[in-house]
Amino acid sequence: MSERNLDKVEIGRLEIDEQVAIIQRRIAEPLKKERGYTELSPEKKAKVDKILDSIAEMRFKDRSALVEVTASLLQNVAPDLSPYIEMAARRAASAVERKKGVLVIYTGGTIGSAPKDPNDPDSPQIVKPWADLKNAAPQLGALGYPIDAVAFTNPLDSCNVGPQHWKTMVSIITEHYAEYEGFVILHGTDSMVYTASALSFMLLDLGKPVVITGSQVAGIVNPRNDAHQNIITALILANPKANNLPVIPEVIIVFGNIILRGNRSKKMNVIGYQGFNTPNYPNMGVAGEVISVEHKHIRKVPETDLQVLDAMDTNVIVVEVFPGMQHSKILENILRDDTLKGVVLKSYGAGNIPTDPPFLNLFKKFIDGGGIVVNVTSVPEGEVVMGLYETSQVLIDRGIIGGFDITPEAALCKLMVLLGNYSEDLPEVRRLMQQSIAGEQRLSLETTTFTGAGAVKAGEAAVSLPKSPLSSVFEAERIQKAMLRFKNAKFSSGAETYGTINIYLIESDSAAPELLTGFRRAGVTQALVQDAEVGESMTFDVTRFKDRLVAKATTGRVKTTQRISFAVEVKGTEVSFSWDGAELNIYTTD
Ligand code: ASP
Repeated sequence: MSERNLDKVEIGRLEIDEQVAIIQRRIAEPLKKERGYTELSPEKKAKVDKILDSIAEMRFKDRSALVEVTASLLQNVAPDLSPYIEMAARRAASAVERKKGVLVIYTGGTIGSAPKDPNDPDSPQIVKPWADLKNAAPQLGALGYPIDAVAFTNPLDSCNVGPQHWKTMVSIITEHYAEYEGFVILHGTDSMVYTASALSFMLLDLGKPVVITGSQVAGIVNPRNDAHQNIITALILANPKANNLPVIPEVIIVFGNIILRGNRSKKMNVIGYQGFNTPNYPNMGVAGEVISVEHKHIRKVPETDLQVLDAMDTNVIVVEVFPGMQHSKILENILRDDTLKGVVLKSYGAGNIPTDPPFLNLFKKFIDGGGIVVNVTSVPEGEVVMGLYETSQVLIDRGIIGGFDITPEAALCKLMVLLGNYSEDLPEVRRLMQQSIAGEQRLSLETTTFTGAGAVKAGEAAVSLPKSPLSSVFEAERIQKAMLRFKNAKFSSGAETYGTINIYLIESDSAAPELLTGFRRAGVTQALVQDAEVGESMTFDVTRFKDRLVAKATTGRVKTTQRISFAVEVKGTEVSFSWDGAELNIYTTD
């Protein structure tokens, strides 16, 4: 299929659900104001009341069925009401329509599947149209607010959901953003976390809930299923106002009895009703006997408008490191593909990969040619924090960036979205990949770069790095770690074993250098990877001076123009230090 065909997703027209269940409960009110009722005898009124009560309990296919049945039941007792029934239904409907409700986007999945052969429950499941699922879940009408729906014309098993469908979902949401309190996406479980992740990056500064759910058991013919409960919980969370719940302004997954941040979720169970969890993030709430939301784990409703990033570059791949990989040609062949733009590298443990120089250089070559490599851990729980430990320094030196505790699924989607939307600005892609943009990772990295090589010897005056605009971190308490990194650093101390490197801070253009601290370093250290061209960085932990490294701004998160610099001096016999460039790396929490 051509790319163009793939891009076209047909969607069914928006089905405005008139909420017959609500209308039938409200139709009595306008009718009782009509003369055809007020002038009835008390006995007849009692009879009409009984009929109207019974109507409230019945089930109707649509509004005209409601009007028809009501008219025929009232025919004998209150014939004068007949001409007013349609009007009363319309009044009741408009009272409902004034209330904002939820828009359901039905994409398919097990939740809306049923056996292919209706007479053979064991025949393969196929995904059925939205109407079948809606009719099988009459409770939807009892929620008390409008639930409109838009469905994919050909609902999909989620194995077949891809970026073109994400774009469709995003365009439906943006087109109807103002009209609804929230959105529910009904989706298969297989690729659900990818959709949740992609949408979280495509809908930045989201101010309303986008709730994704599906089920393990099909909801159309099975009397025992998890579909109906999941849908109802999703519909409740998507209309917080009507349900007295806090707004979760995020793309979330609701499944079983837990509420999860979408871009932190992983599918953990193929059959269990608790199909998902977020190994690196707490549950955002529980949906048990009551639904409760953990305020401290949800994002704040943004003050800015929704920002839509709807371009997508799919020239990316996930590569998982395994023993022996470094000795085959396969990676080299993959990285040589000139359409490839980004790699999510699933590494061991805390971000480690084999350190054979030729293997590392494959990545370096790819990155030097404009590729992006993001290091994430293949272990479900825990994180990669590159640069905090020396072993991962060799990866940074080759341009690999760290993804902290982001899931590989979210990293892949984020890369697609950023490469799609910032195709002309790779440094911005690299920068944003290392920042939490939708709560997808615990840490963000803010970098202040000091370009240019430098060298200093014992006995010489301190050498200053060029002044640079300080990265925009405004609150010291958000700083988890601050590291000053010298690239391709060479330190020697002649005959002595140790030398001292003093680091000074220069806070503004006019300020004199102020000594922060001194670091003792061995003059001859064994390089982890012997590679003369790349060399190794030397990193100094300056976290304890974090109060000095925050940008001073009075107006919130604006970009700072404040410039800082560091100066370096060395002490000891025959001690010298040189570098090719330096960076201040500040790791912050949200
Ligand atoms: N294959 C199905 C899908 O992802 C599985 C499910 O929904 O649970 O659409």
